[in-house]
Amino acid sequence: MDTDLLIGARFEPGTEVEEQILNPKTGSRILSLAEASHAQIDAAVDAAERAFVTWSRTTPAERSAYLLRIADAIERDADGFASLEALNCGKPLHAVRNDEIPAIVDCWRFFAGAIRMLNGPVAGEYLPGHTSMIRRDAIGIVGSIAPWNYPLMMMAWKLAPALAGGNTVVFKPSEQTPLTALKMARLLADILPGGVVNIILGRGDTVGNALINHPKIAMVSITGDIATGKKVLTAAAKTVKRTHLELGGKAPVIVYDDADLDAVVAGIRTFGFYNAGQDCTAACRIYAQDGIYEKLVADLTSAVSSIVFGSENDAENEIGPLISARQRDRVSSFVERTNEARHMEVTTGGARGPGDGFFFQPTVIAGARQDDEIVRREVFGPVVSITRFTDSEEAVRWANDSDYGLASSVWSKDISRAMQAAGRLQYGCTWINTHFALVNEMPHGGLKQSGYGKDLSVYALEDYTAVRHIMIAHG
Ligand code: NAD
Repeated sequence: MDTDLLIGARFEPGTEVEEQILNPKTGSRILSLAEASHAQIDAAVDAAERAFVTWSRTTPAERSAYLLRIADAIERDADGFASLEALNCGKPLHAVRNDEIPAIVDCWRFFAGAIRMLNGPVAGEYLPGHTSMIRRDAIGIVGSIAPWNYPLMMMAWKLAPALAGGNTVVFKPSEQTPLTALKMARLLADILPGGVVNIILGRGDTVGNALINHPKIAMVSITGDIATGKKVLTAAAKTVKRTHLELGGKAPVIVYDDADLDAVVAGIRTFGFYNAGQDCTAACRIYAQDGIYEKLVADLTSAVSSIVFGSENDAENEIGPLISARQRDRVSSFVERTNEARHMEVTTGGARGPGDGFFFQPTVIAGARQDDEIVRREVFGPVVSITRFTDSEEAVRWANDSDYGLASSVWSKDISRAMQAAGRLQYGCTWINTHFALVNEMPHGGLKQSGYGKDLSVYALEDYTAVRHIMIAHG
């Protein structure tokens, strides 16, 4: 197992406090890893600064070739990456191997192609005797900070557009899930010039905090909690850094009376509980119209109670445990508080799973009201709430009445009704008659406190490059 930080072209262990890396399925320790010192963080930033001079001047075709080699190398070692990710996160192996790895490889390939296809406005004489043209250039050193829910995928989402755009990166994985990032460090060091990507380990309030405050870092890209995003903004103000913030969600799912009930139930069973609900787009906040409400509660309860988890035979598992005991206890306390309110009913699940792993039963809560905590706050666990509504106006108003603005969905056979609702939802993405489907060609990112800046698509390349104007006076 790889355990060293990557600083320039050099591998070395962290020298500070050790963090225990746990197996979420059993609660047992996999290994301990020491975090980076201030000197190591500075060395990583200095290496990125030196590498920037040549990397930022490579052609799109050259960078594209590097990205394609990275994609191929991940694909060749897909089983190795998948088993390490499954171990560190507790995910079913087949989910990582068959869902995540192909999407990760495709992300690297997408940006390899996209960087050769950036379009811009025409050059022209906007002042007589002067020709203006627009460039899109690298920003500088990007400090990238990732969460624990999809470690390798978030790494691809952050590194691929940043590198394609000509930037160099200092990357910090979550302190809970660093294992695939450390394996990627070896792969990247074999392919990229030294210093283009540097990988350091550590906790948010120490190493993360040092990165977001580092004067040489030009842009901070973070996926994490709203509270963390606010800290990034405060730190960024000191040196006016660019920021790219993906800060969670609480996705509303509006189900009209005329929706295909079987499709809705199958959709929420999958997209509300995938990755044990530790997903910022999880279909977790259901609004069901009067005429379909009772049947939806009954059918969803029965469907969710059949979700397989914690089986000895991992091939049978549909979801894994939560990432940590802390996260499981957090989810558990949300459910306990709903039990205290008489108007809500836990129709299935509602308790910890058996054993020492961090499992929580897939849970459905019926009778939730708009003001209930379970409707308003991100749980980040296998818990969905169902709220009854009467008219379309009310559903859209409630869906928009949220601090979050990342993802949403509308379910109806009447496409004009669905389109009207979709047009009015204040979310970065609205799916109609599905949920959760992401493609590398389309942008992913939020509104409101879910943050701003897009991952995936050419919009991410725009975020990781700076628009510049060159004017030539030629008389
Ligand atoms: P977190 O905010 O606790 O941590 C995310 C990362 O930020 C970690 O690497 C952590 O070490 C670092 N960090 C924490 N405090 C920091 C600080 N003061 N300075 C610098 N870095 C700091 O979030 P998490 O618990 O790892 O992840 C779960 C959250 O991420 C959820 O809220 C989830 O919705 C969100 N998320 C959002 C998206 C999206 O695309 N919008 C995707 C995945 C996860």
